[in-house]
Amino acid sequence: MGLARRVSFVALYTVTTVVFVAASALWIRSYYAADTTGIANKTDSPYIREMTEIAQSQWRYLDLAKKDTARHHRKPAIVLDADDTTLWTYDMEDDAMAFNFDPALQDVWVQGQKFPAVPGMKRVVKAAKNAGCKVIGLTGRSADQRKATLKNLHTYYGDAFRSKYFFAKWADGEQPSYVTCEVADECTRVEFKSQTRAHAEKKFNVKIIANFGDQFSDLIGGHGRPVKLPNPTYYLP
Ligand SMILES: [Mg+2]
Repeated sequence: MGLARRVSFVALYTVTTVVFVAASALWIRSYYAADTTGIANKTDSPYIREMTEIAQSQWRYLDLAKKDTARHHRKPAIVLDADDTTLWTYDMEDDAMAFNFDPALQDVWVQGQKFPAVPGMKRVVKAAKNAGCKVIGLTGRSADQRKATLKNLHTYYGDAFRSKYFFAKWADGEQPSYVTCEVADECTRVEFKSQTRAHAEKKFNVKIIANFGDQFSDLIGGHGRPVKLPNPTYYLP
C-alpha cells in the first residue's frame, strides 16, 4: 500500500471510529435523557420507563413463588447485584468519567455513597420483603467497599439489606471455601456469583425465586429466575 493510500485509510478509520463513538454516546444519553454534562434525567427517560415495566412484571412471579416455596417449607429469597441493579452509576460513568472507567474515582463515589437508587427497584425490594422474602445482596465490589455500599443501600432501601445477607468480592487471599474456580485465584464473575448463590441457599435454607442483575455474568449459573436489567453503558464478562 502506498503512503498516500495508507494515510487516507488511517484517516478514514479514525473518522469512522470518532463518529461511531460520538453516535454511541449520543444514543446512550438519549436513552437516559441525560443533559449535555452527562447527568441522567431522574424522573423520565426511556431507561426509567423500561425499568418501571420490568419492576411491575415482578408482582405476578412473586405470588407464584411464594406459594411454591411454602410447599417446600423454605423461605423465598431474592438476590440483587449492586451497580446498576440497586444503585445507579450513570452519572459517574458519563459526567464524572466520560465512559472511561477509573477505579480510583469509582472508589471515591463508593466511599462517598453517592449513588441514587436504580429507578423502580425500591418498590421491587419492598414488595419482596413484604411478601416474606429474604433480600440477599451480591456484588463484585471489593471487600473494602462493602460497608459503604451497605450504607448507600440503606439510604434508599431502609433495612432491607442486612450485613449477614450481603456478599462482596473477597479481599486477596480470603477466598471463601464455598467457591472453587477453574483457574485458582482467577475466579470469573460467573463462578463467584453462581457459587455464592448456591451457598446462600444452603446456608440460609432459602429458595432464590429471582436473581436481579444488569450483566449476564450476574445471571448465568442457575439459582434463581434470572431478571436482566438494561445497561447499555458497559459489559462485564
Ligand atoms: Mg451490576
